[in-house]
Amino acid sequence: MNKKNSSLRIACPECGNDTDFFEVADGVVITTRYLQNADCSFTQDGDESQVLGEIKFFCGECNTDLSHFHQRFLEMLF
Ligand SMILES: [Zn+2]
Repeated sequence: MNKKNSSLRIACPECGNDTDFFEVADGVVITTRYLQNADCSFTQDGDESQVLGEIKFFCGECNTDLSHFHQRFLEMLF
């Protein structure tokens, strides 16, 4: 890993955890589309979720609020 990548690595300032994180979204509306088939069964045709509230980002080890890292997390999410 080069220096540039390591400086982008998110680490919890409280406990040093840099592998385990979780995200909490408030006010999420989940819309799921279904197609009805010829035999009257249904097939799921995709999920659309819309976040109406705040998205918070936490350390998975000590639950420290790391929301200021959330934008970077999104940029590094593949
Ligand atoms: Zn932590």
